[in-house]
Amino acid sequence: MSRPVRVRIAPSPTGEPHVGTLYTALINEAFARRHGGTFILRIEDTDQSRSTPDSEAKIMDAFAWMGLEWDEGPNKGGPHAPYRQSERKAIYAGYADKLLADGNAFRCFCSAERLESVRAAQRKANIPPQYDGHCLTLPPAEAERRVAEGEPHVLRMKVPRHGACDFTDGVYGAVSMPWASIDMQVLVKSDGMPTYHLANVVDDTAMEISHVIRGEEWMASTPKHILLYTYLGLTPPDFIHLPLMRALDRSKLSKRRNPTSTSWFQAQGYLPEAMVNFLGLLFVRPAEGEEEIMTKAEFIERFDIGSVSKAGAVFDIGKLDWLNARWLRERLTPEDFLNRVIGWASADDKFQLGLESARTRIDKFADLAPLMGFLFTGSVPITRESFPTEKLTEAQVSQILAATFALVEKLPEWTEASLFEAVKAMSVDLGMKARDTTPVLFVAITGSRRSLPLFGSMALLGRSVCRERLRAAVRLFEAVPEVPEDDTDSEPGI
Ligand code: GLU
Repeated sequence: MSRPVRVRIAPSPTGEPHVGTLYTALINEAFARRHGGTFILRIEDTDQSRSTPDSEAKIMDAFAWMGLEWDEGPNKGGPHAPYRQSERKAIYAGYADKLLADGNAFRCFCSAERLESVRAAQRKANIPPQYDGHCLTLPPAEAERRVAEGEPHVLRMKVPRHGACDFTDGVYGAVSMPWASIDMQVLVKSDGMPTYHLANVVDDTAMEISHVIRGEEWMASTPKHILLYTYLGLTPPDFIHLPLMRALDRSKLSKRRNPTSTSWFQAQGYLPEAMVNFLGLLFVRPAEGEEEIMTKAEFIERFDIGSVSKAGAVFDIGKLDWLNARWLRERLTPEDFLNRVIGWASADDKFQLGLESARTRIDKFADLAPLMGFLFTGSVPITRESFPTEKLTEAQVSQILAATFALVEKLPEWTEASLFEAVKAMSVDLGMKARDTTPVLFVAITGSRRSLPLFGSMALLGRSVCRERLRAAVRLFEAVPEVPEDDTDSEPGI
């Protein structure tokens, strides 16, 4: 008898919720509903250095905004609570011990410097960087002695060097990956926390997950997971990898190039119904002439996992605009419309706080709209000429914009005070003063040289909106910095 359908969305709370996470979550829920199953939310916060409660709250808000309904989760409880990995540490330890005792994992004492020099040599020799097996052959007695002496170490999994991992994926069909291409993954870090891989396999087992439905970027990790299931004598779930969402030019949707944060879409005033409709249409293609407007319930009714194609899903924002416009016109009553607009403008008290900050700068209410408009627009109309070049060269303006754009990802907190401090420090790094750099940022963020206080406004607008405005300004000077992609878009939490 086939097992009951239990699926999960397992976000890592390391940043702003990505629209790709919404897409994966929606499919998981639809799959659960189609099969009378259970949809679980699990927070994968084993990476303590990058996980934040704020990010977790934002993920849950974004899911709730979309109208997703999970049956078990941190705020709901359920038979396999807790649903937050940081609260399950003791559960993983038993599995790690078993892997070690059975000889399927080994202790590794290599320093970060040694690992880096191995990787550098491999890169130079055009070999994909991998652990070189240095500690694999340490005699167990020596390893135990070093552990007893308190030497920092990690636990790595053994991986065969010959043959291949073969499995069937629900979308990609037969997949074969040579074991030699699979790294000897760290399973437990030196602080005793499991990595994503161990925690994920243990929890999918403990939570009786029947189908792992996740983004294609996790496909490369699947052999490691299958091997862990084998080592632990467990039956793996079925794997279904969803093709990546791509921009219109087919490049990967990345926050460095495109708006990807749910908060940006919320700040633009897209309706959650239109977002669900839009994401749903990536999977359900209505026949010629058939209605494209559908609710979440209608999407679920029409959804068939078998029709998901490898071709990938193109995120066409023009289509989202079109759908949103139709929802606005055709599906909202005048009263709904009014309430939605008011709710949108007042989210996070933006309207109230903006008004208060404008109070001392106006003579009469009629002055408000021109002063506050930038808080409620998508982008601000600026050209190169909008920027102050009395005291700065264009190269300096461009440098300030690029440095601030880079700051957007680095700031752990997005508040008036943290922005002020960060811009001050950045100005010093550039050999300037904050009074030279802020007029440039004023223009990029507010579209004007005279406006509401800059840092308070940036806090009100939020990180994702400021990111897009700065990106637009950087582009004007044709100096989009080639920041190397980090893994925050795709592999958070390892
Ligand atoms: N924590 C991973 C993420 O953030 C989950 C990947 C998976 O579903 O296995 O996407």
